[in-house]
Amino acid sequence: MIRTQLEEVKKRIEEACLRSGRDPGEVTLIAVSKTKPVSMIREAMEAGQTVFGENKVQELCSKYEELPKTIQWHMIGHLQRNKVKYIADKAALIHSVDSLRLAETIEQEGAKHQRVIPILIEVNVAGEDTKFGVSVEEALPLIQQIAPLPHVKIRGLMTIAPFVEDPGENRPVFAALRQLSVDIKGKNMNNVDMDILSMGMTNDYEVAVEEGATMVRVGTGIFGARDYSAENR
Ligand SMILES: *Cc1c(COP(=O)(O)O)cnc(C)c1O
Repeated sequence: MIRTQLEEVKKRIEEACLRSGRDPGEVTLIAVSKTKPVSMIREAMEAGQTVFGENKVQELCSKYEELPKTIQWHMIGHLQRNKVKYIADKAALIHSVDSLRLAETIEQEGAKHQRVIPILIEVNVAGEDTKFGVSVEEALPLIQQIAPLPHVKIRGLMTIAPFVEDPGENRPVFAALRQLSVDIKGKNMNNVDMDILSMGMTNDYEVAVEEGATMVRVGTGIFGARDYSAENR
C-alpha cells in the first residue's frame, strides 16, 4: 500500500519534471510521516524511502531513537527556540527558520555539537495571517543577518502555499518563491546557498515541481489521511 503510493508520487514528480524540462534527479521527495506510526515509516523504508519530515520536535526525537540512523530527518514545522537543543544533532535540515533569534539559537546549539546546521528560510509568500514565515520583502534582510553565523548554513527557501481547491492557483506562489531565490542567489553572499526550494505538498506538488521545487513535502499522498482526533495527535 505505502509502496504503491510512494511509487505513484515518484512517477508524478518525474512526469512533472519531464513536462517542464527538468531532470527528475534534482527533486528530493520528503515523506512527511507526522502522526504516523514507525511501522509505516519502516514500510516506506523497505520501499526505498530514506528522507522523512516531521513537524514536532518530540515526535522527531522519539522516531529518531526508534528507527535506523540511515534515515535523514527533516524538521518542517514551526520551531520554538527552547526546543532547538533536542534536534541540533538530529535534523538533516531545518525548513522553518523565520527569525534572527531562532537562527542565533541554532548557532549556539550548532557550536555545542561542532556542527554546521543546514537551514531554509520560511517565506509566507501569500501573506496569510495563519502562517509562520517572513514576507518576501523581509527575506533578504533576514538572510543578511543570519549569513555571518558560522554554525548555520542557509541552503535555500521554503514555503507553505495556501490550501486551494485547484492546485494551479498556487502556481504564482511557487513562481514568486523561485524568483526570490534567483534574486538572492544573484547577491553572491558568503555562506548562503540558494540551491534548495522546498515547496509543494500532496495537493500541489506537481505544480511546485513545474515551478522549480527541489524538495517536495508529501504526507497524505504517501501515508493516507491523518487522524488528529485521538491520542496520536
Ligand atoms: C503536514 C505537512 C506537509 C505534508 O502535508 P500533506 O498535505 O499531507 O502532504 C508538508 N509540509 C509541512 C510543513 C507540513 O506540516
